Amino acid sequence: MDVLELISLLERCSQQDIRLVSRRPAPMTAPAANHGLLGSAAKRPDTCRRTCEHHTGGTKLTTTDKTGTAKLVVEVPRYYFDHNATTPVSPAVLEVLVPALLEVFGNASSIHQHGQIAKQKLELARRQTAELLGSDPREVVFLSGGTEADNLAILGTVRNHPAARRHVITSAIEHPAVLNSCRQLEREGVEVSYVRCGSDGVIDPDDVRRSLRPETILISSMHANNELGTIQPIGEMVAIAREAGVLLHVDGVQAAGKIPIDVKELGVDLYSISGHKFYAPKGIGTLYVKHGTRVGPIQFGGHHERERRPGTENVPGAIALGQAAAIALEQLESERSRLRALRDRLEAGILERIPLTGINGAGSPRTPNTTNIFFDGLEGEAMVISLDLKGFAVSSGSACSSGAVEPSHVLLAIGLPRERARASLRFSLGRSNTEEQVDALIDAVAGSASQLRKLSPTYTASA
Ligand code: PLP
Repeated sequence: MDVLELISLLERCSQQDIRLVSRRPAPMTAPAANHGLLGSAAKRPDTCRRTCEHHTGGTKLTTTDKTGTAKLVVEVPRYYFDHNATTPVSPAVLEVLVPALLEVFGNASSIHQHGQIAKQKLELARRQTAELLGSDPREVVFLSGGTEADNLAILGTVRNHPAARRHVITSAIEHPAVLNSCRQLEREGVEVSYVRCGSDGVIDPDDVRRSLRPETILISSMHANNELGTIQPIGEMVAIAREAGVLLHVDGVQAAGKIPIDVKELGVDLYSISGHKFYAPKGIGTLYVKHGTRVGPIQFGGHHERERRPGTENVPGAIALGQAAAIALEQLESERSRLRALRDRLEAGILERIPLTGINGAGSPRTPNTTNIFFDGLEGEAMVISLDLKGFAVSSGSACSSGAVEPSHVLLAIGLPRERARASLRFSLGRSNTEEQVDALIDAVAGSASQLRKLSPTYTASA
């Protein structure tokens, strides 16, 4: 069966035939993770139907005859190249998470033994996370993830600052967690400067310096960009912030586990990370708050996390985050070079095989796992769907707003014309990816690009 036939078969699967099951891809196999639910049609032998089953290890298309006998038509393996969106929980993290969920259920504020055990485990997780960051464990605040960390860093500092200073500097390529926190501040009467970004995907520190005002409170910049992977000049921004007596918050969500972090050596005041970007579950993250930094809570309740974040701590989540941090630190160097080699292979393969392509943000320092490539004459969304049907998960970086697909604000901010921004794809690699998968991805991308370009009026016009 060729891909076009497969696509048409998959398209003919009605929504009710599509079942979501969880099965891990081979390299990430974990016990008890296979809840495969094959044969939804077999349970309804009265009809003849097609069943399309999606799971993380692959897509299975089966047909069932009137007697209820299921026949496998095709199985498409699934390869995941969207690790900047999220990562699967790693088996080694599950090994500590499952017992923690079962046994470490005490409230870390309780004085009985259940509470004390939870507290000890929470503090171990705090030490492990601090090691990844290069901080003192007492500077680590557990919270629900990157968005909350960014909100707390920005709103928690500005709202608690003397009213005379009411100005913040950030950049146009930040994640919505930062941009929308700044927009909220604007609604509260704070002025915000959004510095531009060059076509290289890197913020110019001189633009930050030029945006300083006597009333500036905070500079907020990402460490690594989620769409391009470009690494920002944090060292230079620290120098600018220090000289001006301004706080510096760094959104390190896309840096943690990918490049070395040392908040002390960097000299930043606040640093956000999120567990689900480095193989811990969703719903847990931390904000590093340098000793002496004034950050008030943005939610109100109990006296947890040194009065910075109320709410009973998510101890199993923190335990998982601590374990993920320890593994990330241990594997940092080996994974860095392995992923960089795979990423370079992917880029070389695509650029060599497919005309009218190029790398967005090429030439700048980048996280080793990320590449963002434009395919002129194509629609990124169509490529994402076509590749998904072939079993590959990638991202276009576009956002759906009011029913329309908007090109990525990051790609527009680096000066890409709208058409090229819409024709771009992000590939973000991770632990499960291998050379064979990268080669298969190159073939799939080449096939999809050529099929879709045949249908593209813009491509025919420009070719
Ligand atoms: N900051 C950056 C740079 C991100 O890439 C993300 C998530 O994609 C976030 C913040 C938000 O993190 P979370 O999904 O944990 O809320």
